[in-house]
Amino acid sequence: MYESEINIVKNKILIIEDEEAIRDMLGYALMKEGFLCDEVGDVEQARTTIEVNRPNLILLDWMLPGMSGIDYARRLRSVRETRDIPLIMLTAKGEEADKVKALDTGADDYITKPFSTKELIARVKAVLRRYSDGAASGVIEVNGLLLDSETYRVSADNQVIEISPTEFKLLHFFITHPERVYSRSQLLDHVWGENVYVEERTVDVHIRRLRKTLEPFGFDKYIQTVRSVGYRFSTR
Ligand code: CA
Repeated sequence: MYESEINIVKNKILIIEDEEAIRDMLGYALMKEGFLCDEVGDVEQARTTIEVNRPNLILLDWMLPGMSGIDYARRLRSVRETRDIPLIMLTAKGEEADKVKALDTGADDYITKPFSTKELIARVKAVLRRYSDGAASGVIEVNGLLLDSETYRVSADNQVIEISPTEFKLLHFFITHPERVYSRSQLLDHVWGENVYVEERTVDVHIRRLRKTLEPFGFDKYIQTVRSVGYRFSTR
């Protein structure tokens, strides 16, 4: 039996920390709380990860090899693409001046090492809550297939899957309504909208494209044809 795990609106956190023990501890604590985590050891790796998989929050260590966390925080805040990502600084420096400096760069909060995982989780949740008023951001994940409803991006194994807006909407609808069969006309109503005139066979065309898009990653088998009825999304 294949247990499918479907997590809707799971927040993804990027951990930038060069000390492996701390990085592992952070990742473990956050994943236990239901967050998705990407873990990197320096700014260079962080950049690549953000491009592929935009995080919902960044945990950034102050002292890093190469570019420091504080300089990177400034950089993140100065670029349009990353300006709005919630940011928490990790610092071993407990002095008041450093805390002020961390917040001056545009960080939303800071955590002073050593810290308890309880404190970490509480601060992460508090910052995310502050941001979540308004647009629903978040990532939907099904067995390693990630859908970001904010950026309209789909990825698997840290690879971006090129997808058109219609295929994205179709996939998004399927993933949020799993295991149920929808007729072509129902899919038209839900995905294209009720007042749009589109022929039913258009659905078949887009289903075919969606499967082709997902095929290299092995996810095309989730889009299933139910003969003489329609289609369904199922991981079984
Ligand atoms: Ca460090």
